[in-house]
Amino acid sequence: MPDYLTLLSADEPSPFGLENELGQSPFVIVCEHAGARLPKSLGTLGLDDEHLTRHFMWDIGALDLARIIAQRLDAPLATQRYSRMICDCNRHWEAESFIPTHGEGIPVPANADLTPAERARRRAEIWQPFQDGVANMLDAREARGQRTLFVTIHSFTPTFFGKPREVEYGVLFDRDTTLSPALLKALRAQHGEKALANEPYDMNRDSDYTVPVHGEDRGLDSVEIEVRNDLLSTREQIETRANELVFALREAAENLGVTTNPPKKGTTL
Ligand SMILES: [Zn+2]
Repeated sequence: MPDYLTLLSADEPSPFGLENELGQSPFVIVCEHAGARLPKSLGTLGLDDEHLTRHFMWDIGALDLARIIAQRLDAPLATQRYSRMICDCNRHWEAESFIPTHGEGIPVPANADLTPAERARRRAEIWQPFQDGVANMLDAREARGQRTLFVTIHSFTPTFFGKPREVEYGVLFDRDTTLSPALLKALRAQHGEKALANEPYDMNRDSDYTVPVHGEDRGLDSVEIEVRNDLLSTREQIETRANELVFALREAAENLGVTTNPPKKGTTL
C-alpha cells in the first residue's frame, strides 16, 4: 500500500454506510453530512472541543431525520459520517471548498496549506469510497430494473452571520424538472412561504455533487432537501418533520405516477 493511504486505520469504519439496501421503495435517501467523526490520525484538526459538534462539522439532525424517512418509506439509506471538514462528499474533489480552511469563520488549522499528497489521501480514503458506494448502489438498482427517485437530506443553520433565516424547507435542484417541482408543490401546500426553491442555497456544480452527478446526470428524478436545524433539536421535532416530508414525498411520487408502498403498520402517515 502506498504511504499516503494511511488516513483511516483498520478499525475505523468505511465512509460509505448503507442501510436497508434492498428496501422496496422507489425512493433512495442519501445523507452526505451525516456525522462529525474525525479519523484518529487527524486528531481534532487543531480545533477546540467546543467546535467539534458545530454545524460546520456536519448537518445537525440530518441523519436521524433521514433514517426515519427511509424507514417509513422502506427506502435504502446511504450515509457518510466523517466530518465535512475532512473533505466534503457533496463537492467535486477539484472544488475550492472540497477541504474547507474555515468553518463559520473559524480557522481549521489542520486544513491550512495542505500538500497535494494530503488532498489525495482524503480523496482516496473518504470521498472516493463514498462516491463509489452510491454509484454501485444505483447501478445495482438499475440492473434489477428498479425505478429510483433520488433524495438527499441536509440541514442548515437558523441564522447566517447574524441574520435570521425564515425559510424552513429548501428544495434544491438544477436540471430536474420532475421530482423537485412536485415536492416543492406538496411542501408549499403544507407550509406556504416557509418552503422555497433553491433556498437558503441554490444548486450548482461548485457547491453540490451528489444530486447533479449521481442524480441528474443519470437522468434520475432527483432533489436535495434542506431543513432548518433548529426544527430538528429534539426527537419529537425530528419525528414531526419526518412525517411532513414523508407525506410530501409520497404526494410528489403520486403526481409523477410512481407507486410507493403503503405506510408501515403503526405509523401515523
Ligand atoms: Zn449538508
